[in-house]
Formats: sequence, structure tokens, C-alpha cells
Amino acid sequence: MSTRRTESAAETERLAAELARELEPGDVVLVSGELGAGKTTFVRGACRALGVREPVVSPTFTLGRRYEGERCPVSHLDLYRLAGSPDEEPGLFDEYLTPDAIAFVEWPEAAELPPVRVAARVVLRHAGGDAREVEVQRER
Ligand code: ADP
Ligand code: MG
Repeated sequence: MSTRRTESAAETERLAAELARELEPGDVVLVSGELGAGKTTFVRGACRALGVREPVVSPTFTLGRRYEGERCPVSHLDLYRLAGSPDEEPGLFDEYLTPDAIAFVEWPEAAELPPVRVAARVVLRHAGGDAREVEVQRER
């Protein structure tokens, strides 16, 4: 596990890019932290490093988005709006969590994911002003 302190959004994006380089299709990265901690910023940095050219913003009205990356498709899910809903539609994640794609999941604790290969767990915490503590735990 590594914990690093970042002083700006750009620095968090760079940290995410480092992790992105190690990822392979089928890998899922869980990204936790309270609102504004920098989860979407982290995912954006990783997506850029994976060659995604589209804007990477919070998927607000959908559960997720699927981007075209350089090496493979890249999925970005935000499960926030699922929190507290008892029944999940079966197959809800099917279009995003596919073996050919690398996936990033914000608010992973808000729902039960199907069995996937979790490659890393990331936790972001506010550390005063623009500072963040970014914990990256690689699972393999
Ligand atoms: P979340 O997805 O966790 O709600 P966002 O990434 O959408 O958070 O928002 C984080 C906000 O904090 C952005 O406006 C970003 O520019 C800002 N920010 C400031 N400093 C940092 C930092 N060190 N790391 C990440 N984001 C930062
Ligand atoms: Mg977000």
C-alpha cells in the first residue's frame, strides 16, 4: 500500500496516471472518498493516461460511461445514486464491467458489484486546502 500527499488536482491526476500504466483489460479500480475528495479527478488522470480523449466528468444522470481508450475501452462508474436502494436491477453493470475494459468505480460501497477482478483500491481524503492524502492499495 502506498499513501501519498498531493497538493493540486494536477498532482492527483499524475498519481492516477502512474497506476493506470499498470492496468490491464478486465481490471477494476475502486475509488473511495467523500464528496469533493478528488475521485473524479483521479479517474480523469487515469483515463487521460489510458488515451481517453473525451471529457471525463461525473456520470450524473447515468450510472456510468464507457470511453474509447488507446489500448482498450475504459469504463467510469459512479454508484452514488444507488446508495440506499435495496434492489438492484440484475445486469445493471453488464455494459461497463466487461473483460475487455478497464473500469473505475466511484462510491463502490454504495452497491454490491458482481464478481470482478479488483486490481487496486484507492482512498482519497481531504488534508487541508488543496491537499489530499491518496492511498493506493494494489491487489496484485
Ligand atoms: P469527487 O469525485 O471525489 O466528488 P472531484 O474530483 O469531482 O471529487 O472534485 C475534487 C475537486 O477538488 C475538484 O474541483 C479539484 O480541482 C479540486 N482539488 C483541489 N486540490 C485537489 C487535489 N490535491 N486532488 C484532487 N482534487 C483537488
Ligand atoms: Mg465524483
